Amino acid sequence: MAASDPEVLVLGAGIAGCALAYHLTRRSISVTVYDPATPAAGASGRAAGVVTEQLWDRWDVEVTRESNREYAELAHRWDPAAYQANGFVRFTARSNVAEAVDEARERLRSWGVDVEEASPEELSRWVPEGRYNDVLSTLVSRHDACVTPSSITTIYAEGAREAGAVFDFGLPMESLRYVDGRYELTRSTGILRARKLVVAAGAWSKQILVDLDHPLPLVPYRTQAALLRPTRRPAEPFPTVHDLDTDVYVRPESNGRILAGDGTEDREADPKRFVTGGDEEFLAHIAESLAARFPGWSESEMVSSWAGVCTATPDRHPLIGPVPGAEGLYVLSGFNGFGVMRAGGASRRLADLLASGDGDAKARAALGPAWAPRFEGRPAPFSPRPGFTLEGGDRPRF
Ligand SMILES: Cc1cc2nc3c(=O)[nH]c(=O)nc-3n(C[C@H](O)[C@H](O)[C@H](O)COP(=O)(O)OP(=O)(O)OC[C@H]3O[C@@H](n4cnc5c(N)ncnc54)[C@H](O)[C@@H]3O)c2cc1C
Repeated sequence: MAASDPEVLVLGAGIAGCALAYHLTRRSISVTVYDPATPAAGASGRAAGVVTEQLWDRWDVEVTRESNREYAELAHRWDPAAYQANGFVRFTARSNVAEAVDEARERLRSWGVDVEEASPEELSRWVPEGRYNDVLSTLVSRHDACVTPSSITTIYAEGAREAGAVFDFGLPMESLRYVDGRYELTRSTGILRARKLVVAAGAWSKQILVDLDHPLPLVPYRTQAALLRPTRRPAEPFPTVHDLDTDVYVRPESNGRILAGDGTEDREADPKRFVTGGDEEFLAHIAESLAARFPGWSESEMVSSWAGVCTATPDRHPLIGPVPGAEGLYVLSGFNGFGVMRAGGASRRLADLLASGDGDAKARAALGPAWAPRFEGRPAPFSPRPGFTLEGGDRPRF
């Protein structure tokens, strides 16, 4: 190994790759992060930034809690506006969904999540723009937050850079090969080499792994959000609200604006060529949902709308850890639309594994259901099934 070669080369400067670089430098592991674009050029620069413990297994809750704490600390130090502890509220007016929400509340509590119910009066007090007279069940988690994902990505990148990480941006990748025990990435200014390569390239990870002849079951899909300016400035900060019946969520944004999503598609997208603006259909759905559920926001001005590409896995758990059958190759991807809230905790766990070795049982166990080697063999095609899921076990999605 040349003296200047890093121990680890990370592909992708989204929130996952930058958080990983940050955690590797804290373990005295030398790292270079390569991205053909700029930090947060992918999904991380387009995300809504909701961070919630209303998740679907204990591991996810722990990872997200870790991320939440880290984001709060980092933002407090470097960019306080990037973090708001505003809480998160889900609700339904449908009786079959209410039953699942009640079950989810008990399940979340059994995992140590502080989750409560709220009355229609409380909902009206928190978000007076809404109408809640028919709401049957709610899930309220007051410790949840929302972050500015691009700012958190930048804070991680700067923290890593200060500690010696090298960032290599803006040049297209010409080739990536495994030669004599090292990965060699060529771009116009020369070759980057390392014995360990982590593919943290979001929606682009699938093709990179295919090109390395180590495909994994990853499917990129498109999801959308819109920034709106209500006629009256909302009470700040209001909790992020998610209407389970229309599957639309709304969170507070800066300068009296609100951010609404979801518009998730269940078919494969190509991250190299996808429609980057919000579709008519998505915008109509947001408008209808606001009119029905949040009449106080129905006259909002549309400031902008956009789409980004996320990455699904067949079982909706992320893919983190060694790629089976490939020496020195790792993956940190497949976040199924929840990569902002998982990035801090997930990348710290992968950094522990890279520091201790793949055989370290504790580091391996810490990756829980995300452990990448659970998939072996040629991946079969599958349709993405992302979304703000509440089911546990085999309960169907709603
Ligand atoms: C509209 C929208 C709303 C969302 N809302 C939320 C939310 O509220 N909460 C939440 O947790 N998540 C949310 N997400 C999901 C979240 O954005 C992603 O899960 C997360 O950003 C993934 O981060 P990443 O670092 O893995 O990938 P990305 O941020 O996509 O980064 C991948 C990087 O890889 C780079 N790259 C491309 N090709 C190569 C190559 N050949 N070599 C090296 N690098 C390469 C890209 O330029 C990019 O910078 C949302 C996403 C969207 C689109």
